[in-house]
Amino acid sequence: MVELAADQTPGLVCAHNHLYSGLARGMPAPPQTPTDFGEILDLVWWRLDRALDLDTIAWSAKAVALNALEAGCTAIIDHHESPNAIEGSLSVIAEACAEVGVRVNCAYGITDRHGAEGAAAGLAENDRFLSAGGRGMVGLHAAFTCSDETIAAAADLARRHGVGVHVHVAEGDVDTWQRLSGHTTDDWLLIHGVHLPDDHGLAGTIVHNPRSNMNNSVGYSNPRRFPNPVALGTDGIGVDMLEEFRIAFVKARELDVTATPDLIWAWLGTGWKLFPEAADDVVTWNYPTMDPWHLAYTTQICPTSVDIGGEIVWADGAPTKVDGPEIRAKSAEAAQRLFTALNRL
Ligand SMILES: [Zn+2]
Repeated sequence: MVELAADQTPGLVCAHNHLYSGLARGMPAPPQTPTDFGEILDLVWWRLDRALDLDTIAWSAKAVALNALEAGCTAIIDHHESPNAIEGSLSVIAEACAEVGVRVNCAYGITDRHGAEGAAAGLAENDRFLSAGGRGMVGLHAAFTCSDETIAAAADLARRHGVGVHVHVAEGDVDTWQRLSGHTTDDWLLIHGVHLPDDHGLAGTIVHNPRSNMNNSVGYSNPRRFPNPVALGTDGIGVDMLEEFRIAFVKARELDVTATPDLIWAWLGTGWKLFPEAADDVVTWNYPTMDPWHLAYTTQICPTSVDIGGEIVWADGAPTKVDGPEIRAKSAEAAQRLFTALNRL
């Protein structure tokens, strides 16, 4: 890690995101109001992912990558699904992030929701991307949408590529996580873990997404109770990791008033184990003391410059590699195309 001044941090890491949801704000209302997490998936996200094509995936990823720089986040671990545009989708995301200058780790969320053919296509996309040298993991949607055979195939593919599996675990589902037992290794990312028992026995890093969990009313994972390392993600609600840090802190305090900002900062710091290059990125902030005890209670902090791999990619409120207003305008147009496709479903 490089020597940092008091107003600097390494590049922040988002350990779980969905870049495909970047254009979702303002989307048409679902046909009926979802009343629980299952209905939120059915009526919102599993309609949106079916409406995506490679073009809207690219603009969504660029829009979020731009937001990442604006928030001092230099590395994103993404979990992607687009059942009607699977092949090539991970390369589209990787290229979009590279254009803006943000590091990304890609995975395609394999699932049996679209039959054996859909699962095979998802497996093939992970294999294709990793075989071509892409930075990524093998994605698995969640045990509750996958057969035992699909889970085993994802674990096997990951082993062959020397990477972990990136999978949602016990988010709203209570009794399907056991089917992952025997497959997990330390390089897996276990997203949420809300309903995992303390002694679940799964290996890997638990990624805590407190705002998403509250938004979906699935409960609090209280990640301190696990022996696993803990990291922080946004689950697709933006990519502002200082904001997620503050939410994680206040959520932990709600349960236990002795919880400290240092604990939550350590969770954020786990991101540098998952994405080591980001530890050498340098973000300079408009706040003089980037100390966890300050940051837990200070809002509206933003970067004045972002250096990724020795290149300044954000300075004076604007990206240096791309035209920010143009990306925002084209992303807004792509969002309208996506909403039209959604309305046709
Ligand atoms: Zn997620």
